[in-house]
Amino acid sequence: MQLRQSIEFRGKEMIKLRNLSKFYYSKGIIASGLSRINLDLEMGEFVVITGESGSGKSTLINVISGLDTYEEGEMYIEGQETSHYSVGDFEEYRKKYIANIFQNFNLVSSYTVYQNIELILLIEGRSSADVKDKVNDIIDKVGLTEYRNTKVSKLSGGQKQRVAIARALAKETPIIVADEPTGNLDSESAEIVVRLLSELSKDRLVIVVTHNYDQFEKYATRRIKLNDGKLNEDDKIKAVENSEDMKPTEFDKIKAASKLKLGFRNTFNLIPKFLLTLFVFLFLVFAVASQYTSYKAQNDTLNNLGFNSFFMNGTDDRIVFKKQDNTPLTDADYEQVKKLKNVARIEKNDLILDTNVYIEGESTNLDGYPASRENMPKKLVAGRLPEADDEIVVSYYSFNKPQGEPKAIFDDNLKINLDGGGTIKCKIVGLAVKDSNTISLSGASTLHMSEALLQSIKNSALRRVTNVELTINGKKAPSSEGSMQLVANEKVPAGNAFVTEEVDAFYDNGVSKGKKIDIQAKNIYYTDTITVTSQNTYNKSNYKRLLGTEDEYDMVSGKIYISPQDYNYIFEKPDYQSSVFIKDTDDDKLAAVEKELDKLGYKTISLKKAKTSMDELSIINLIRVPMFVIMTVAIFFICYFVIKLILKSRGVYFSILRMLGLDMKSIKQVLDIEMLTIIHIAYGLFMGFAYLVKIKVVDVTTIQNMVKFFALSDYIILYIIVIAMSLIISRKFAKALFKSSAMNSYREGAQ
Ligand code: ADP
Ligand code: MG
Repeated sequence: MQLRQSIEFRGKEMIKLRNLSKFYYSKGIIASGLSRINLDLEMGEFVVITGESGSGKSTLINVISGLDTYEEGEMYIEGQETSHYSVGDFEEYRKKYIANIFQNFNLVSSYTVYQNIELILLIEGRSSADVKDKVNDIIDKVGLTEYRNTKVSKLSGGQKQRVAIARALAKETPIIVADEPTGNLDSESAEIVVRLLSELSKDRLVIVVTHNYDQFEKYATRRIKLNDGKLNEDDKIKAVENSEDMKPTEFDKIKAASKLKLGFRNTFNLIPKFLLTLFVFLFLVFAVASQYTSYKAQNDTLNNLGFNSFFMNGTDDRIVFKKQDNTPLTDADYEQVKKLKNVARIEKNDLILDTNVYIEGESTNLDGYPASRENMPKKLVAGRLPEADDEIVVSYYSFNKPQGEPKAIFDDNLKINLDGGGTIKCKIVGLAVKDSNTISLSGASTLHMSEALLQSIKNSALRRVTNVELTINGKKAPSSEGSMQLVANEKVPAGNAFVTEEVDAFYDNGVSKGKKIDIQAKNIYYTDTITVTSQNTYNKSNYKRLLGTEDEYDMVSGKIYISPQDYNYIFEKPDYQSSVFIKDTDDDKLAAVEKELDKLGYKTISLKKAKTSMDELSIINLIRVPMFVIMTVAIFFICYFVIKLILKSRGVYFSILRMLGLDMKSIKQVLDIEMLTIIHIAYGLFMGFAYLVKIKVVDVTTIQNMVKFFALSDYIILYIIVIAMSLIISRKFAKALFKSSAMNSYREGAQ
């Protein structure tokens, strides 16, 4: 090794390397990057490093820049040892001393020229208003005035190199390190760049790597040649001018306003990335929301199911009431109950509320709950409004549409099968679709019918809850569906009965004709007894004539037929029991209504209180809660990995921030701002969408349902979930970025 000290030392010593070695460990093989380098570099020098490819030039300047570590020897910075330096110490050193100009520029290509130069000053803790003039001056100085607001991605190689130099200039550090700064440039651009660097070297130490020394010959003050990681030549060519040296850069923490500015800038400067991230967060919000609402919808269904089987229509706002003395309810009763506070409406004779009516025809069958024509929808989707007593309008939920064409339904011969036997002929003349806002989870249709039809249904409902017992020849015989069922028939005169052959068997001579039968009807409201005379025993050969029916014998056999007058005497009663529906189902408010009713002399059953949670429900709940959690976590991870992929593609950007000296916490915060901005946009879109659903601009039943189950507190919970998720993602990302040295994370990012 030759070391010629032909020119006298003038500048201030800056970097001193003593026996410095660097090794690379790669796939189990140790390669030497630098070996036993001794070098003193001073302020004011324009050092040009040359050497074959692979001779260690990049390694040397990366070590000097604090971008890479060394294994042996010592590096002194202004006389200070660095072998004990931590990663943080090197970061600080880089901030104070080093401005890098990279061969591949390391510019943020989605930023404009101005923004790239401004970036380094913001990182140094200066405010964007302060640096405006300085940035513009520097842009003028490198001759890019007309490209000030052009995105770097649109510039030529020579222009990019000048932006990289401008950025180094803005940093005002004592040392500028440039790896192949003219590598990609035509000779004209190269000349400009070299002259610029030479000018900069007046009050700094400029170190340049090149394989084209000729371009630098005019300006270099010193030439260093590397060979195989060793110092081969070290020529001091020119004297160093003595001038005021650049001091290590003073820097502050990056300002909060600057982080905000960068965060917003990053949110929108890459539109595809923005849209993709927005899409992922939209998916997150909607997926979590739909999980959550389906969980709540299930809750609601289960609450309605968790209820004794007597009342099928068990909404929380329903209170069943009847007189404490079991006498029928009168108009005066309804008047005073209606006046109570918190009462919304009364449903007289509430048995029909719990009566599901089944309508059957040749091609049609459907079911629903009976209702009067009072609240019938005016707008039909098919058919017409009803006129005759046997005409019905069916209003259904769009998801529970009756099967078959409307015309086929209208033309069909239909009948209602009544509880406790008997059928009523009817016709469906109109179809309506229910307002999905008033959805009941059972999805049951409503059958709007005449008062006459309703009365029959009410009677049959009462029949259902009534125990009928016959006394024949002094013996008691239950009347049930299978045998001796009581049925009304027009052909039977009042006070008489047409009986099945079974009745004859009660008499020794096998003849019941002319004998008395006591019929006792007993239910929770009343007990009634009538006595009829058996007038005829019907059998297979005479039943059609006697009963006036064309039905198969199987259908009529085993029954006791009495006159409609007698039947109605037993079952057509005034209202013994009705329901009151309240506005506010809050426990206290509900109890208050019950108390008032009690004072007025009524017995009550609150369906909210009467709910008994079945054992199965608690088991279902045991599964449901973890299922909800698992699904939510799964959605979280799907989004997490997609966001991670998106962020990975931006690893270069964040490595640049890091190489420019931004600390981990600030990088995380800049990322946070970006994520939070997108999340808020996604959440805003979600809320806007929910609003459109609410005001019914968007009219899809399932989504309506979803939104219906969303309370204010749920919006807040969901908000917290997505915010927490975005914070976790940016934190993990920032940590991963800082796990390895700046050079490694840059290498990884660049891959
Ligand atoms: P130059 O810049 O002069 O072309 P480098 O400094 O890039 O040379 O490389 C010096 C030596 O170190 C070469 O032999 C090269 O193969 C090796 N080297 C450089 N970087 C790595 C690395 N990341 N891992 C392993 N070996 C490396
Ligand atoms: Mg190299």
